[in-house]
Amino acid sequence: MRVVRLEHGGRGYFAEVLDAANAELLTDAPWSGGVRTASLVPLASSRRLCPVTPSKIVCVGRNYRAHAAELGNDLPTEPLLFLKPPSSLLATGDAIELPAASERVEHEAELGVVVGARLRDASESEAARGVFGLTCVNDVTARDLQRRDVQFTRAKGFDTFCPCGPEVVTGVDWSDLEILATVNGAPRQRGRSSHMVFSIPTLLSAISQVMTLLPGDLIATGTPSGVGPLCAGDEVAVEIAGVGRLSNPVRLRRA
Ligand code: MG
Repeated sequence: MRVVRLEHGGRGYFAEVLDAANAELLTDAPWSGGVRTASLVPLASSRRLCPVTPSKIVCVGRNYRAHAAELGNDLPTEPLLFLKPPSSLLATGDAIELPAASERVEHEAELGVVVGARLRDASESEAARGVFGLTCVNDVTARDLQRRDVQFTRAKGFDTFCPCGPEVVTGVDWSDLEILATVNGAPRQRGRSSHMVFSIPTLLSAISQVMTLLPGDLIATGTPSGVGPLCAGDEVAVEIAGVGRLSNPVRLRRA
């Protein structure tokens, strides 16, 4: 199943992709019990929205050995968690805006996990069964502010700093996916999910010991090495085979 969210008739709808041309509108998100409506819309003429509307976005820091090393950090002995606000979400094709407060904004290509069940104190097997599907995430980061602040909130939380999509796919084996970031078509990051320090079931189980995960919540599972700067005029893409290609232009934030 491939889930998108589309603007139709002035409002947003979850929809299931049927083929290259069409999607069928759903009554709600499928992880919230949404069902088909028999109303078909053409994909080409529908504006794409971010395919998730999570109660929270839980992110994982330093979950790849080579990325921890490139930033001069030791590997964590337990998952390093932080949050991005849902207001940072951005659809594919929409612009990442560089804030005046930062001189160094970087891309972080990540495999995103969309939660499909309520998870509280979940075991790893319960957590694995509680995955709805996968998507692409760019954990855009103001690296200078991240180094300056104690908390990651400001560096990770600007509006437009969480591109996500273009769709949520189910039934894809997440154990060894290639995660690629390109800027203006040139490869910048290339990693494999099999190199995660903490696996997806381990992460969801650990997060669920802290906060209840709800259907539709988004987990950004950490970035491989190769993070680098974004400049106004760039086009940054996150590509994961079988999951999708998330592409966003970059521009200065308007005052
Ligand atoms: Mg990250």
